[in-house]
Amino acid sequence: MKKYAVLSMDVEDWYHLDYFNKNECNLNQSTLDGIDIYLDLLDQYNIKTTFFIVGELVEVLKDKIKLIQDKGHEVCLHSYSHIRPLQLNLEDFRKDTLLGIESFKELVDIDVKGYRAPCFSLDRDRLEILRELGFHFDSSKIKFDQHDLYGRIDLSDFSESGPNIYNQNGFFEFEASTVEVLGKSIPVSGGGYLRIFPWKLTKTLLKKYFKTNKHYFFYIHPFEFSRNYDIKIPETTNFLTKLRFRKGRKTVNNKMHKLIRLLEENNYEFVTFNQIMKNES
Ligand SMILES: [Zn+2]
Repeated sequence: MKKYAVLSMDVEDWYHLDYFNKNECNLNQSTLDGIDIYLDLLDQYNIKTTFFIVGELVEVLKDKIKLIQDKGHEVCLHSYSHIRPLQLNLEDFRKDTLLGIESFKELVDIDVKGYRAPCFSLDRDRLEILRELGFHFDSSKIKFDQHDLYGRIDLSDFSESGPNIYNQNGFFEFEASTVEVLGKSIPVSGGGYLRIFPWKLTKTLLKKYFKTNKHYFFYIHPFEFSRNYDIKIPETTNFLTKLRFRKGRKTVNNKMHKLIRLLEENNYEFVTFNQIMKNES
């Protein structure tokens, strides 16, 4: 059985994280150096993957986006402004998405065909808007009821072509990987979980996941790789948020090597979402 892994990156800066008030953030500080660190790591293992990029960053990242594309990675949209879609009404969501599409078209001449919502915040109405706007796939679904910011997408009339993949008339939805433990879904798919959980725990959960899943979908952010450790976050940020932002950042690089090797040992091939879509069509 062929197995596939997508090690995607959601390209946003530290101040886009939903738990900071952007108006109070010093936007001159950046963690986007994490993109280069990730690109080097991907090169080292000859991995091609999918980058979901925030539209308002296209202007400053023009050259970087061209480099990402030249290296054979796929470029997709991670909203224009990184406001959670469920906080926007349908019309404003459409406007934000259109702005994102246009930024890529005008500034780097790329037609984005894949979307991931900030904070997995999407529902069926907004998914239909993505289809109307010409997207071929979305990757904003996660089974994790304990997280209050995540949305729910009703896909009951989609067909499930294997765990984590849903499709209807050629449009695909990819679900982030979670593993069931004592009746609860635990994410094994995200940079935050990789960063904060000890590697031993992550490894145990992943081994359980690998037994029954031929697809593994993972996401990480530039700030998790950034060497800019001295970001001054707003003083009003509460203690738990500060901890959540800072914890384990220096461990990420090392854990990523371990994750990639573990996926290799378990015979996963590294691909883009576009490749998965082709395989499944
Ligand atoms: Zn995001």
